[in-house]
Amino acid sequence: MSEAVAEAVAERFTRLYGAGPEGVWAAPGRVNLIGEHTDYNDGFVMPFALPHTAVAAVSRRTDGLLRLHSADIGDGAGDTDGTGGVTELRVADLAPGTDRGWTAYPAGVVWALREAGHEITGADIHLASTVPAGAGLSSSAALEVVVALALNDLYGLGLRGWQLARLCQRAENVYVGAPVGIMDQTAAACCEAGHALFLDTRDLSQRQIPFDLAAEGMRLLVVDTQVKHAHSEGEYGKRRAGCEKGAALLGVDALRDVPYDGLEAALERLGDDEEVRRLVRHVVTEDERVERVVSLLESGRTREIGPVLTEGHASLRDDFRISCPELDLVVDTALAEGALGARMTGGGFGGSAIVLARAADVETLTKAVQEAFARAGLTAPRVFEAVPSAGARRLA
Ligand code: ADP
Ligand code: MG
Repeated sequence: MSEAVAEAVAERFTRLYGAGPEGVWAAPGRVNLIGEHTDYNDGFVMPFALPHTAVAAVSRRTDGLLRLHSADIGDGAGDTDGTGGVTELRVADLAPGTDRGWTAYPAGVVWALREAGHEITGADIHLASTVPAGAGLSSSAALEVVVALALNDLYGLGLRGWQLARLCQRAENVYVGAPVGIMDQTAAACCEAGHALFLDTRDLSQRQIPFDLAAEGMRLLVVDTQVKHAHSEGEYGKRRAGCEKGAALLGVDALRDVPYDGLEAALERLGDDEEVRRLVRHVVTEDERVERVVSLLESGRTREIGPVLTEGHASLRDDFRISCPELDLVVDTALAEGALGARMTGGGFGGSAIVLARAADVETLTKAVQEAFARAGLTAPRVFEAVPSAGARRLA
């Protein structure tokens, strides 16, 4: 499969730029199994990689030019001779805040690498991605990490996965201007097939946790609601600020430092600031849920993670308040139809939910969710099965 993809992307590169690429790389989208809105609180997350990937064909240049093309965007999708829609930039001119389009993601990576002292003298890049954009499955990090890995290999930078993740996060924070945590980039860079990645976002220490649902007669469904509520970015900023306020009031560096068995005392100290109390309660209980899922998976009690996922959803809905009617509809419908667990995943206010199900129930569950959406007059959701897949890698 990946050989054919690599070949197709390389071929398009050749038509665009007149010579074959030096190599082809891939980086995946991700689903977060548990650990939501903990990554900017120095807490725990547990993503796994999707089979959906961003693929990049890349060659170095020595003349300071960066040429970018996406098969999936604007002219990139429309042009038939394969030469339209190339964006040409000078690496020396790259500067944060100058680009509001998709090219800010790959250009931001080049900027971040150069800013960190790595001599990148230019590149030709052609990208194609099967990660749905804006669905909470992290198409942006896939884009960043595939470019970072390609340049790391071609320029012989010798950077490790977590270092590439940090640079990509910097690209997204500073160059693109999105205040995201470190989870998505680390997932794209470091995940392994058949595993979920237990990541401590404070020191970036990580552990690969075996996560093979098929072997246990289970499946994990991703339900992309295809909705994105407009106020999501502002709300994200408000939650971050609220968490910071909570940490400051409690006199800790980050909410990660509030121990689970000290939660009640912490809530008491916060007095009647109900908003902050709710945010703190979510983050502290969510970190505990991640640890519980890790220990269940490591002791082979996979099925028992279901209720923990569902608890996580209730916390995001009632305490963190970032769910929406469409996400709740997926979760409620799936649970009513016998799912083992379900929760929203990603930033919230739309995007995707995940459903843990017995293999035999997949069809009924999928149908039930689709019918519920139809009854509610909503756009049909996209439902697919998520198999824990490989992280970023070279394809050719
Ligand atoms: P998410 O990462 O959850 O998918 P983001 O808003 O963070 O959502 O990133 C989506 C953006 O990433 C798109 O608006 C686009 O700019 C960029 N992007 C994603 N996939 C592609 C692609 N195949 N080609 C070009 N740009 C892409
Ligand atoms: Mg993103």
